[in-house]
Amino acid sequence: MLSTNRLPQHVLVVDDSELQRQFIAELCRAMGIADIQQAVNGFDALAQVKAKPQIEAIILDLEMPGMDGVQVLHELARLEQAPPVVLASAREHVLLNVVENMGKSLGLRLLGVLQKPIVHDHLLASLGRFSVTPLSSRASEHWTPGPALTEQEVFRALRAKEFVAYFQPKVRLADGSLKGVEALVRWEHPEHGLLTPGHFIELVEGSRYMSELTLQMLDMALRQCRKWHAAGLPISFSLNLSARSLADSRLADAIIERVAVSGIAPQHVILEITESAIMTDLGTTLGTLARLRLKGFGLSVDDYGTGFSCMLQLSRVPCTELKVDRAFVHGASHNRHLRILLESALDIASKLNLEVVAEGVETLEDWLLLRDLGCGEVQGYFVGKPMPGDALLPWWRDNQQRMQDLGPMDGVLQVLAGGLPGS
Ligand code: C2E
Ligand code: MG
Ligand code: MG
Repeated sequence: MLSTNRLPQHVLVVDDSELQRQFIAELCRAMGIADIQQAVNGFDALAQVKAKPQIEAIILDLEMPGMDGVQVLHELARLEQAPPVVLASAREHVLLNVVENMGKSLGLRLLGVLQKPIVHDHLLASLGRFSVTPLSSRASEHWTPGPALTEQEVFRALRAKEFVAYFQPKVRLADGSLKGVEALVRWEHPEHGLLTPGHFIELVEGSRYMSELTLQMLDMALRQCRKWHAAGLPISFSLNLSARSLADSRLADAIIERVAVSGIAPQHVILEITESAIMTDLGTTLGTLARLRLKGFGLSVDDYGTGFSCMLQLSRVPCTELKVDRAFVHGASHNRHLRILLESALDIASKLNLEVVAEGVETLEDWLLLRDLGCGEVQGYFVGKPMPGDALLPWWRDNQQRMQDLGPMDGVLQVLAGGLPGS
């Protein structure tokens, strides 16, 4: 299916078994790959990668005498520019997962992890990812030290209205229609430029100002939502609530009141919460959530499946939606473990009658897998990145057709025939 992508034309096959090397080389040849080099061990592989900068991809066996595949990955990570890697091994899935995560955290690009004996279609799908530009670049995967910010600055920024809401679209998989948006805070810092929450949200959460920030975000989202509804787009929006805000019972009153005067129905407002939000002052928090639900607000369990958001929460919170964390979503199409965990999250959501949103949908493969698994809604860079509120309508005008074509199966085939987005 992904054969419309450009395959690497210079490939290095690394395996200590002559038979395996010949077999993989033969598969590559059958795919039309022109230049297939072979290395008999890890040392040989590294020497060839250094000597032949034209090598575009490596198919690497994990178990080799002397330098094994894990060591080869470490050595590759030291190079200025390492070619992307397809890992191959006959060992158990869980071990392959560990090595895959290790490779990624070293900053390497992994095109796939294949169980031996290698099957033609799996190798083709992995090599087909070669020409798809990865959306999460190495820089965004790693924490980079940001500017030192203080509580006084947060106070000043709230007065000066430097916090702004960006909105990320959420679409229905069945027909590609726009369901809603998630409001995500950004700080338009006068010195440091546009800052994402990773740089400041913990600071604000630890200060007295979290509820104030939540209410400013709510006001901005309500203003935008009125504009979208007026333009004929009756969408909902989601707002993130943090631990500190939820333990403040006055916050629920303020939210209920502001939404009431806005003219937007509470059914169009979804409040996203994480497990850490539930942990503090359980009594107050659960009371706040129950009141919000009684008033008709949607309640979403955010980052489901991560350490902060577990199954127990589903029985405690009167939730209406489950948001599967992106850790289970992006990459599940070529990782059996992730796919099983993803399937179980979708299964739980369906049995509990919850709306389900998959976060972190970055590629067409992610989209197709979720559609096949019957997931309801998706959010992620493949659909659209967070954007200023006024950019949403023009974005939807430009992307509505692409989303709708991806809904039905024949539409997907047409999109594929026209080339993959981002390739
Ligand atoms: P979240 O609520 O889970 O929001 C999703 C995050 O994933 C956003 O990061 C979004 O930009 C990012 N994202 C979306 N699609 C993709 C994708 O396809 N690939 C990747 N790699 N990432 C994707 P952002 O905006 O940096 O926000 C990070 C977190 O900060 C949010 O996670 C949320 O927990 C918190 N946050 C954001 N805005 C607010 C807010 O107004 N209030 C509170 N309390 N927390 C907020
Ligand atoms: Mg969220
Ligand atoms: Mg999330």
